[in-house]
Amino acid sequence: MRFEYVCRYCKRPIGAVDAANWTYADAVQRLGLHHLDSDHQRDVIQSRAGDVQIQTVCEACEQAVAMNPELLIEGNVIQ
Ligand SMILES: [Zn+2]
Repeated sequence: MRFEYVCRYCKRPIGAVDAANWTYADAVQRLGLHHLDSDHQRDVIQSRAGDVQIQTVCEACEQAVAMNPELLIEGNVIQ
């Protein structure tokens, strides 16, 4: 499986991990997502044909949100 990290705000690809022999459960463990409850996991992890997309926040959006926390409430980050 291929695991792609994508920013949840700007949809920019952040990185990818190729781990052909990982199962979905391995990935959840190794990527540190096991502490999320299953609803949150489903929100963060989206599997598509042959690969898995993991929603995260890129540095630019993290900074934007840190400076303007109200952007989070809006649910969108305008860049
Ligand atoms: Zn971003």
